[in-house]
Amino acid sequence: MDVTEDTTPSTDQRDAAPDSRGVDANTPRRARNTPPLRSVIKLVDWTVEPDREPDAKPYTYAMECDVCCEGSPRSTDPQSGCVWILGHVKTNPSHHSYTEIIKRGWRAWMEQP
Ligand SMILES: [Zn+2]
Repeated sequence: MDVTEDTTPSTDQRDAAPDSRGVDANTPRRARNTPPLRSVIKLVDWTVEPDREPDAKPYTYAMECDVCCEGSPRSTDPQSGCVWILGHVKTNPSHHSYTEIIKRGWRAWMEQP
């Protein structure tokens, strides 16, 4: 990882009356002279997209009833949720709204210069 530490004070306000850190003339000398710790992470471009590699996790599907929140088992078969809905509505004829929940893998990588 490209991380560099910059321990240089951003401005020289050590002698000014209370600064943003609450440091003033009554602050012990050691605390007044301690520069603020900052970390600078190198700016790089990242790409994020669905994982379409051969070893990517398979998409999985599930359905959830919007009325009672009961849900189907998760499956790699996108039609299995529809079968579950037909069984659910058979015993709950007033439950007409459902949400499909799809899980798919994503990947992120840093652009190389
Ligand atoms: Zn339901």
